[in-house]
Amino acid sequence: MKYMQSAGLTATRQAATQSSGGLDALIFDNRFTDQLPGDPDPVNRRRQVPDACYSLVAPTPVNAPQLAAYSREVADLVDLSPETCQSKEFTEVFTGNRLLPGMKPFAMCYGGHQFGNWAGQLGDGRAINLGEVINTHGDRLILQLKGAGPTPYSRNADGLAVLRSSIREFLCSEAMFHLGVPTTRALSLTLTGEKVERDMFYDGHPKMEPGAVVCRVAPSFLRFGNFQIHAARGEIDLLKKLVDYTIATDFPDLGKPSARTYAQWFDDVCRRTAEMIVHWMRVGFVHGVMNTDNMSILGLTIDYGPYGWLENYDPTWTPNTTDAVGRRYRFGHQPAVAHWNLVQLANAIYPLIGEIDPLQTALDHYAHAYQSGWQEMMAGKLGFTRYEPHSDQALITDLLAILAQAETDMTIFFRRLAGLDGHDPAAEEKTDDELMAPLMEAYYVPDQLTTDLRRQTADWIRRYMTRTRQDDMLPAARRTRMNAVNPKYVLRNYLAQLAIDKAEAGDVTMIDELLELLRHPYDEQPGKEGFAAKRPDWARHRPGCSMLSCSS
Ligand code: AMP
Ligand code: MG
Repeated sequence: MKYMQSAGLTATRQAATQSSGGLDALIFDNRFTDQLPGDPDPVNRRRQVPDACYSLVAPTPVNAPQLAAYSREVADLVDLSPETCQSKEFTEVFTGNRLLPGMKPFAMCYGGHQFGNWAGQLGDGRAINLGEVINTHGDRLILQLKGAGPTPYSRNADGLAVLRSSIREFLCSEAMFHLGVPTTRALSLTLTGEKVERDMFYDGHPKMEPGAVVCRVAPSFLRFGNFQIHAARGEIDLLKKLVDYTIATDFPDLGKPSARTYAQWFDDVCRRTAEMIVHWMRVGFVHGVMNTDNMSILGLTIDYGPYGWLENYDPTWTPNTTDAVGRRYRFGHQPAVAHWNLVQLANAIYPLIGEIDPLQTALDHYAHAYQSGWQEMMAGKLGFTRYEPHSDQALITDLLAILAQAETDMTIFFRRLAGLDGHDPAAEEKTDDELMAPLMEAYYVPDQLTTDLRRQTADWIRRYMTRTRQDDMLPAARRTRMNAVNPKYVLRNYLAQLAIDKAEAGDVTMIDELLELLRHPYDEQPGKEGFAAKRPDWARHRPGCSMLSCSS
């Protein structure tokens, strides 16, 4: 998406080049607030906000802002130099203490289905958009603070965020980006110097925790819920304005608004969502709260809350304690939930189209795009040139059934699989145990490998090796292909928790250490193997490692 420069901005840009890389060089073009109806009430008090897409609201200043970490890649994207990011002014701006000329902070109005039920108005309860930057490449990027104080959408909460959840969001957004998963980004993580009260498991044990702010960055933070709220309130004119705005700004290739364009737009949202979910399934990411207010219209992973990474392959696993009973957001259910969420978006925009068929067709495209995307992705994980339904359907189904029978680390298993050599003439003679030897590192409890399961696994390996021999790829090329889609390093739940424990004790260095590691998730990184190890036993039932809540 390229931005057409206006005459006014050209002058600003000329002035800006004089201090490139600095905060004063940022060029703001606040299109969302300039083009869409806002809340006429300027007072920052919690309330329903009808007939508006946003409310203007300033961040709440804090006592003692301090930089904990920043992402140099995102800084680069926004045209900020490393010197700028280490300046006091940067910390002041990105904790919410100071506004730059051109910033026009606002919170967005949205609703959403939470755990399957319509929840009415939600909105940016603790997110404040500072403004929209146009970078030197002409890309539009919204700068958004999370945890910078209450807004009209804060309902009964405080508008703040604690350090542990902010570290998790900061690191995971960047880790996902480097894994090649569509995501919102994180520019900075700052400490506010203030304490925030949280009852982590809602069980009557509140604690004071360090407050923090993450500056998130994305071309758009619009969620399905932004469209749903206007449909639910019968604000169809406003719904149309928002859809027209979104198409013009983020989907410009679709052209002029019409019922046909709207259907094509929805089709594109379906396609992007399918692609995002395929990536999640590839890397073992469980979002944890796939409510419709947490679904990005651009198909980006958004709102890192009680997410988790699959350790042992278990499609029924959810990291979110709030979801422990229904397990609506379990790993294996994510594709179906995304579809359900898309149906809710289809319902919301139906008044603009007036026909069910095009929406249904797009939803069918989702199912098809997901299915074929997943098959190709799995074929890639197994190192095949392409998915061959005759052989691969059964091979993949059988593998996933085997993986779920004993606690098997998904990341290690697929990485190790690349080490098997189907062309090795000695492989034919190998016993079950010899065949399984390269994979043993992946098992949490080797005792769970019964004779029967060993037999099943070894038989599967034999079939797999036969299949790799039939493929026209050489062993070295297959390994390279596999290692490019099967990460060695992911943000294991316990690793994030170790960085949190240290940071809460005053040492933030492990955040940078993990960020550096996760910049190259597919590389071997000699000396860093410890970070690729399976979850240690102490982390098995530890809060933050295996159990997370929405309290953040
Ligand atoms: P989430 O479950 O994080 O997606 O949040 C659901 C809704 O609750 C969103 O409208 C959030 O803005 C809001 N919310 C979550 N935490 C807070 C908080 N500490 N203060 C204000 N609003 C919040
Ligand atoms: Mg949310």
